[in-house]
Amino acid sequence: MKIIRYQDSSGAINYAAETSDGAFRIEGDLFGDYSVTEEAADVAKLLAPVDPEIILCIGLNYKFHAEESGMPAPERPVLFVKGRNALQHPGDPIEIPTKLASHKVDYECELAVVIGKACKNVSKEDALDYVLGYTCANDVSARDWQIEWGGSQWTRGKTFDTFAPLGPRLVTSDEIGDPNALKIKTILNGETVQDWNTNDMIFSVAEIVAFLSGSTTLLAGTVIITGTPHGVGMARKPPLWLKSGDEVTIEIEKIGQLTNPVINEA
Ligand code: MG
Repeated sequence: MKIIRYQDSSGAINYAAETSDGAFRIEGDLFGDYSVTEEAADVAKLLAPVDPEIILCIGLNYKFHAEESGMPAPERPVLFVKGRNALQHPGDPIEIPTKLASHKVDYECELAVVIGKACKNVSKEDALDYVLGYTCANDVSARDWQIEWGGSQWTRGKTFDTFAPLGPRLVTSDEIGDPNALKIKTILNGETVQDWNTNDMIFSVAEIVAFLSGSTTLLAGTVIITGTPHGVGMARKPPLWLKSGDEVTIEIEKIGQLTNPVINEA
């Protein structure tokens, strides 16, 4: 099933199932029992498909991207986090930080995993049973705050407001099949700048979920973003940084396109 989250014309926030006949409102709890009604969804504004308590992020998880970053492939998944403040909706702007100014804001296309049922200490074999579905993510990154001024960890450069666009829809696991067999790309101002496949991940989605759940509860609704392939702006010669007026699209096979304009923080 393809699921959207939206605000209706009265301001209420709902989920809906997208079908070939239109979108129909979902009743109940997406992370419990729910059903699709026959009521056409009154979509006034499309929202990020989930509103997670936390966004867990895996770094350096594609072989060629680790190489272009000049880093050895990690021996175990590299974790950092983005806060809920960073969430951004499809179509809404990515803001280049101006107060805590950055001059090196970059794009990263990533497959986002949405945990459907709380889990802890799951095996790699069982891990995908806890996944509700998948969406597109842009792991927007201020490379100066991530690398030069981050005190050797990445969170400062990764969790500015608007640095976690998600969407446009959640596609449930049954429709995705193997999450490590999906084409993934970034299109910047109409030009494809990343174009690869999730089969190049160093740690598969199942391995990531199993690892992150070790001695750690993954709550229902947790979003995990799973790393980006090569082609980021930082590794280009000359580097390619996002600027006000740009438009960046993340596209993943079977999910669709997540597009956001870029502006300067007011
Ligand atoms: Mg990333």
